[in-house]
Formats: sequence, C-alpha cells, structure tokens
Amino acid sequence: MIPIRGFEGRKVAVFGLGRTGLTAARALVAGGAEVALWDEKEGGRAAAIAEGFPVVDLKTADWSSFAALMLSPGVPLTHPKPNWTVEMARAAGVEILGDIELFARTVNAAPAHKRPRVAAITGTNGKSTTTALLGHLCASAGRDTRVGGNIGIGVLDLPDMHGGAVYVLETSSYQLDLTSSLKPDAAVLLNISPDHLDRHGGMEGYVAAKRRVLLNQTKGDTAIIGVDDAWCQRICTEITAANHRTIWPRSASRSMGRGVYAIQGVLYDATGDRVIEVADLLRARSLPGRHNWQNAAAAYAAARALGVPAEEAAEGLMTFPGLAHRMETVAMIGRVRFVNDSKATNADAARQALSSYPRVYWIAGGQPKEGGIAPLDDLFGRVAKAYLIGEGASDFGKVLEGRAPCVQSGTIEAATAAAFADAEASGEDAIVLLSPACASFDQFSDFEARGEAFRAAVESLQRPALKGARA
Ligand code: ADP
Repeated sequence: MIPIRGFEGRKVAVFGLGRTGLTAARALVAGGAEVALWDEKEGGRAAAIAEGFPVVDLKTADWSSFAALMLSPGVPLTHPKPNWTVEMARAAGVEILGDIELFARTVNAAPAHKRPRVAAITGTNGKSTTTALLGHLCASAGRDTRVGGNIGIGVLDLPDMHGGAVYVLETSSYQLDLTSSLKPDAAVLLNISPDHLDRHGGMEGYVAAKRRVLLNQTKGDTAIIGVDDAWCQRICTEITAANHRTIWPRSASRSMGRGVYAIQGVLYDATGDRVIEVADLLRARSLPGRHNWQNAAAAYAAARALGVPAEEAAEGLMTFPGLAHRMETVAMIGRVRFVNDSKATNADAARQALSSYPRVYWIAGGQPKEGGIAPLDDLFGRVAKAYLIGEGASDFGKVLEGRAPCVQSGTIEAATAAAFADAEASGEDAIVLLSPACASFDQFSDFEARGEAFRAAVESLQRPALKGARA
C-alpha cells in the first residue's frame, strides 16, 4: 500500500465504498490523515465498519471540517448530473479528488531521490493491453515495475514507492476527471473515439478528460500520442507546437516520417537521426492485428522514454504473454486455434478481432449493444459460420441471413462444440473465435466469467483427445 502524503492531521471524506474507496481510506490513514466514510448502500457501510473506519452520514456532516472529498470513479462528477456529495463539497469549498490524484500528490511530495518514474496510459481502446505490455517491457528490462490503476490492482494498493521503481498506470476518463496533479514521465494517449458520452456531457467533455493525462507535463517529460484518429492528431499538433517532447505511435500502411510506426507488422523507430527496424510484430506471440501494432508502438515508445534500451524493449515485445480475454489463444487442438476475445463487448472491439483473421468460426451474441452487429457487415465475408448465443442470438441471425451461414447455439458450450466440429471437418488451419460484440450480463457475471466458460468448454473438448492420446 502507498501511504498518502499531504493530508497529515487533516480529515478527508470518502464517498463510495467499493474497492477504490476502501483502499483510499486505508492509504490515507496510513499516511496520517483522518477519514469519514460514507456509502448509500448498506453493504459498503458494513465493509467500512468491519474494518473499524468511522462511518459518517455525509448528508448531515459538518463539511467545513473536511480538507477534501475522495470520490470513487463510478460516482458522477458532472453528468448526467453531479452527485449530491459533489454539490455539498462545492458549496463548502472542499476540493474533490480521486485515487490517482492521491497517488500523484504523494509522488510530487517525495524528495527527488525517492521519486519513482511514472507512466500513465489512457485512450478509448487498448488501454489495458498497452499498460500490461509496457509493464512487461519495463519488468523484463530489470526495472522494479508496478502495474495497476484501472487494470488489476488499484493504484494505492501497489507497493510503496522508492527512487528506482516504475509505476505503469492505466487511467480511465472517470479517474482523469478527478486528477489534477499527475505529471507522468511518459504519458500515453492511444486513441479517441466516442464512448461514455453520458458521463462526460458529450464528446468535448470526453476528449477534455482524456487530455488531462498530459496536463502537467513539461519539457523533460514525454507525451506519446497515437495519431491514427483526428481527435488525437489535433491534440498532438497542439502539444508539439507548445514545444513539448512528443512521440507519435501509428499503425501505418506506408512510411510516414517521424514517430514509431508499424508498416505491415514491422515496427520502426523513426524518432532519432535514422530509422531503426525494431521488431517484426507478426512474430510476436500475443500482439495479433493492426490495433495491437498501435499498442505495441505506443508501449515501445513509452519504454524508451523511461530509459529501457531499444534492444531490450524489442525483445520484450516478442515475449509478452498477452492479456486474458483479449484475443487470447486458449488452445490449439490439431489445426484448430481457439481465440478468446470475450472482452469485445461491442461491435467496435469485435471488429479488431474479425479483421485480424481471413476466415473464422465466430461465436457471437449476449446482451446486445445499440446497433448490434450490423456495423460489422463489411466483415461478414470472413465468417465461415456464426454460432449465436444469448439474448442477441435471434436478432443477429436475421442480420446475418443471406450474408453468412449461422446457427442458433444458445449457450457457449454448445457453440464451442459445434464450431470445433465444423472447423475440424474443414481439414484446414482454422480459427474458432469468441468475440461476442455484446455485454455478457444475460448469461454471465462479467466478461471474465464468459471467457472462462469458453476456456472450460475448450478444455472439455481437449480431454477426450488427451485420453485418446494416452490410451
Ligand atoms: P481497454 O482497456 O481500453 O478497454 P483492452 O486492451 O482491454 O482495452 O482491449 C479491449 C478490446 O479492444 C480488445 O479485445 C480489442 O478487440 C480492442 N482493442 C485493443 N487495442 C485496440 C486499439 N489500439 N484500437 C482499437 N481497438 C483496440
């Protein structure tokens, strides 16, 4: 845990007692602050009481006694409308902050020799992959690396800082809205496309939140800004014009001057005097698809900015084991590869997986998002057959009619078995892909549970084969 500096002897109100809120309370107390915790849900309050924290009804509390309000990222700050705690804090002139801000202040308060290096990653898609990949590049180059934030472990639950440590943090737009002091040595803004607009009051608010990752950077820091989309291009032009150090990662189709870019899977570093060929990403174990070239270019650029030598970063790209549930190969049975992309909960994310393979046996469906799979119709030609599950199955069947063969499978187990039978019967190298383009909540607790169910279904196909091999 990271004890928070800057609130010694002062009182901080903590609202929202999920994992982030409770961790923040512990970290504040460890740093010498007093806390007052509140949640509208009984369960959250019970968890706080069980740990011995003071639970205080913030509706009737004396707000003049608070130095700050620590808000969970799930609580609306501005839209659709500010939470009542936000309004009470504002009325009392109490500052509002989140867990990344508490971390940032603690870093800023550390003496220079104890201050760790910090990389912060944001963007609409690819945050987790790029964060994990950058963590892997730093760790395999021998750095004492801590990976967390919006991925895996919350930032304040990471081990305490020292001068040689590197923190690699995934930061969401919600977290960035609650952050004002973060000054990353390397900030990565991967890409921007419309998302979470209800929480940011529209595109302008969303872009502004993402941009906050660059807010405090100065000339010695590095901004790594993906320039594959127009929003990021504009931001990159402004930051470069302000004479800050920028690196432009891209997944390009042709040579494009400065930056770090991948052309047909080959990653080039054109940030120095000459262009260096870094790595052939087509040979990387876990970075399939053009979207991953963007992630690889950004992670490589950030690793270099943090002082990782080029050869070691290139080596790390090859050995990255990948993240579970994101185009993860879970098994090969004969010539059939099973790919788990359960994290693809909308059409945009499923597009990345579908366009990475020329021909797939596609398991799709679940709780549909607006538009369903219709936006993917240019890719239906790649679908050897679709196996439809969950609530969206019958509507998706209608969309696919006449475009690609499909079958109503209902469950992930039935879909996996049927897809395997067809893929194997083709007699060719084949891909069975779970990339549902839907939320999972109709049949599973979350996308991880859905991915695990797929893995288990694949294992049950493997077992008879293993038994056969042993017999
Ligand atoms: P995030 O953490 O931003 O949600 P992930 O790394 O978990 O992103 O990837 C989620 C899904 O988004 C992946 O399964 C993949 O299909 C897609 N994706 C990953 N990287 C990118 C990218 N750079 N651009 C567009 N889509 C991406």
